[in-house]
Amino acid sequence: MGFLTGKHILITGIASHRSIAYGVAQAMHREGAQLAFTYQHEKLKSRVEEVAASFGSKIVLLCDVTKDISISNLFICLAEVWPTFDGFIHAIAFAPSEQLCGDYVKTVTREGFSIAHEISAYSFVAMAKESQKMLSAKSSLVTLTYLGSKRVVPNYNVMGPAKASLEANTRYMASSMGPKGVRVNAISSGPIRTLAASGIKNFKKMLSHCESVAPIQRTVNIIDIGNVAAFLCSDLSAGITGEIIHVDGGFNITVMNESFSN
Ligand code: NAD
Repeated sequence: MGFLTGKHILITGIASHRSIAYGVAQAMHREGAQLAFTYQHEKLKSRVEEVAASFGSKIVLLCDVTKDISISNLFICLAEVWPTFDGFIHAIAFAPSEQLCGDYVKTVTREGFSIAHEISAYSFVAMAKESQKMLSAKSSLVTLTYLGSKRVVPNYNVMGPAKASLEANTRYMASSMGPKGVRVNAISSGPIRTLAASGIKNFKKMLSHCESVAPIQRTVNIIDIGNVAAFLCSDLSAGITGEIIHVDGGFNITVMNESFSN
């Protein structure tokens, strides 16, 4: 019996088999969770339906987080099949591509800043707000963040402040929802080649740098992230909330690689 047996978890953010959310679904399915999925727009619907079917789920619902009505409709529709559920994975981020290269101060615009924050940070609490009354007393909400929230990563630009906002959001949500039994955490993932990541200039170079600096001497993959997300949605992590958990092979603790010791 898997450690998520009996749990009902909603997964957002699947755009392809490379998506981090896909790795999360794999790990959660393996541990016995019942899954429901969202898709951002019609073009992604059939792809997400295929993925859902491969995990034994028929629950595939539209949710574009730029629209309040789309978020509320998501939970109205979900309530028809699951009147209560045990949490969701928020694996959603976006910034206009022209914001993700070049000098930060020169490139950033009011509109780009606002879009990045609205889609990548506000949407997490917006989903929590709408689903609050459906969440069971042992629920867990998990989002995905990146070290660019705390350190300057070339070309990550406006996504850095957006992820910092998402992380603060995580703590405030944890404090607000804790008394109702809802835990809220973020996984700070090392870089993984996905559709979202392909928008960041020199991403390949970033991967090789991480490989050379991280103590485990490899980059992480979607299953590494999925396993931690599954743990965070399980009762095994009942004492953890408001945390930003790094799953990056230890990259964030290092300054230089092993070659400096010789
Ligand atoms: P991905 O492109 O596979 O997933 C991004 C998802 O965001 C897509 O499914 C897309 O449909 C969804 N999305 C974007 N705008 C949306 C909107 N308006 N409404 C609903 N959904 C919307 O890429 P990924 O790398 O798997 O990204 C998932 C999360 O992981 C993101 O928050 C990302 O910032 C984070 N993350 C990724 C990396 C990495 O290196 N890939 C590292 C750290 C954190």
